Amino acid sequence: MTVSIALFTQDLRLHDNPVLHAARTAADQVVPLFVLDPAVEAAGFAAPNRLAFLADCLADLDASLRRVGSRLIVRRGATAEQAAKVAAEAGAGTVHVAAGVSGYARRREAALRALFGERLHVHDASVTVVPPGRIAPAGRDHYAVFTPYHRAWQQAPHRTVLGAPRAIRTPEEIGSENLVISGPFSPSLPRGGESAARERWRRWDVAAYADVHDDLAADDTSRLSPYLHFGCLSATELTDRALRHGGPGAEAFVRQLAWRDFHHQVLAARPDAARRDYRARDDRWHHDEREAEAWRQGRTGYPIIDAGMRQLAEEGWMHNRARLLTASFLAKTLYLDWRIGAAHFLSLLVDGDVANNQLNWQWVAGTGTDTRPNRVLNPLRQADRYDPDGAYVRRWVPELAHLPGPSVHRPWLLAGDYPAPIVDPQDLTARFRHGRP
Ligand code: FAD
Repeated sequence: MTVSIALFTQDLRLHDNPVLHAARTAADQVVPLFVLDPAVEAAGFAAPNRLAFLADCLADLDASLRRVGSRLIVRRGATAEQAAKVAAEAGAGTVHVAAGVSGYARRREAALRALFGERLHVHDASVTVVPPGRIAPAGRDHYAVFTPYHRAWQQAPHRTVLGAPRAIRTPEEIGSENLVISGPFSPSLPRGGESAARERWRRWDVAAYADVHDDLAADDTSRLSPYLHFGCLSATELTDRALRHGGPGAEAFVRQLAWRDFHHQVLAARPDAARRDYRARDDRWHHDEREAEAWRQGRTGYPIIDAGMRQLAEEGWMHNRARLLTASFLAKTLYLDWRIGAAHFLSLLVDGDVANNQLNWQWVAGTGTDTRPNRVLNPLRQADRYDPDGAYVRRWVPELAHLPGPSVHRPWLLAGDYPAPIVDPQDLTARFRHGRP
């Protein structure tokens, strides 16, 4: 009787899971293992919202595994040590795990390698569609610009989508621990897990995506980001399904999945881009904790910015257009260090992801991969364009809900006690223009 371990990380699903597939192929019995590693907490990455979502994911994964005759084993501790302990208990010969791109994922893989050597099998194309490093411009280790990356990504072979296993045999008598989580949590978090993810994908219509994805009030993007972050859905399967669907909506959606891969391959090549400027611009950041706090609280006096920040607090999620606006407001208009904003996002986002969050922040701040690093998004023009009737603001800023139409974007022109704008609406780029050499 041979036994293998399928070590779940950012791939909390049964469908299209190369790690689980390989573990099943390699042995008669499989131990599906998830380790709650205190190193994630120590790195400040175990935000309550994501832990709540993770708890749903693990419960759903366990239920799905039980339906096919198995169950999830949860352990707490250093991942490699726990995997070695379980391997000894179960007599497992091999360990299968998905390749990750963060500094933590690399350290975890190195620790697993040190303990398991050749018995460790790392599977790429589990988290991303195209594995980081698989495509690169001549003489470089990664793409630094999205458009040529996207072209190469479209040409690159994508692996075949795998079905969900119908039966898995798991050794008896391997103990499991419970995940204990504590808040504070955002009040309206989405439900985690593969079942919820697949239900969301079934209910959502990709056809309209190209037309509505920037419409803040329509709120009709896929909202699959937390499921993609925890791997409740595979990006490869989504790409495959969308390409089969076809049409402009599906194409635009697949392009966003390519952005996800793009940021992963940048982080894989430059892990320090999680904290350091990818391209330093000699910024002389402005320092003002009072302003940073007004931004965090959604009290900048700019309702479109405040609406985004309040959606983040309430749902642990924010519309992409609102992320762009709130990030540009912090890093360009207020000209505060992008790391302040990125840290706040990571403390709340249920999809908070080192690659996507830090590199999108850097893109907006002009220290990342944007080919126009000095662009500034004017919050008022953006509000008029992407929330033309003001419905998004009225939804998230109840004290302005009585204001009709687009007048809600400029409360300082009307009587009322909404906070005054923290920077002059006539000169929204002053600090950035003077600060960046
Ligand atoms: P859809 O529009 O339906 O797109 C489908 C999927 O494509 C998303 O679920 C996501 O996985 C991927 N995607 C879409 N846009 C991007 C993008 N710009 N970069 C990378 N992948 C993308 N996304 C995260 O998953 N985690 C983060 O921590 C995160 N932080 C961000 C911070 C800032 C400042 C900005 C501007 C963007 C950030 N994004 C992040 C990207 C994007 O805003 C979200 O992925 C998207 O809003 C999630 O909503 P959705 O699932 O409805 O996306």
